[in-house]
Amino acid sequence: MKRMLSLTLSAMCMASLAMGASKGEDPATPPKEILALLHDHTPLTPTKVFDNLYCIGTKSVVAWALKTSEGIVLIDSMWNDEDAKLIEKGLKLYGLSPKDIKLIIITHGHGDHYGGANYLAKKYGAKVLMSQKDTEFMLSYNVGPNAPEYPKPKIDQYLKDRGKITLGDTQIISVETPGHTVGGISLIFPVKYQGKNYEAMLWG
Ligand SMILES: [Zn+2]
Repeated sequence: MKRMLSLTLSAMCMASLAMGASKGEDPATPPKEILALLHDHTPLTPTKVFDNLYCIGTKSVVAWALKTSEGIVLIDSMWNDEDAKLIEKGLKLYGLSPKDIKLIIITHGHGDHYGGANYLAKKYGAKVLMSQKDTEFMLSYNVGPNAPEYPKPKIDQYLKDRGKITLGDTQIISVETPGHTVGGISLIFPVKYQGKNYEAMLWG
């Protein structure tokens, strides 16, 4: 029987953090210290969380690399080109090649999740996937705490509710989980730890 694990993305998105704003302040304008945290690009040590899953990121936000038999699925891409270069470095640290990034799944349309995708997709020819609703949201959202730092990526394929994305031996299920954004997507996929199979859920 497969075991279910739950992973939580370390995403510092303002829609939730803004709720901490003091009384009387515009909730869309978070406190300065929260904004500073959102844009803290201090690198974290890349971590192999499961045999086939790696976490690479900064104090602000992280990306996940899922290794399959036919290449790497990158889940989210952080803020910008510099963050994307951090992803390249983190993969190399574990003997993985960024050239093997085939798919970049963006869980939702905030700038801290898609900002590195343009750089990586162009450099390595990876396909970028996002839900249609959040693609439209991303294209319309230009001002605010999660506004883009870098050019928005071209979306090659829309993620669907209860859709399946397959790369090599790995199948990922995408599930619409709106709330944080209108078309945010969460993912269910297989992971291994010390030879045992598990099923992971990653909240987007
Ligand atoms: Zn967000």
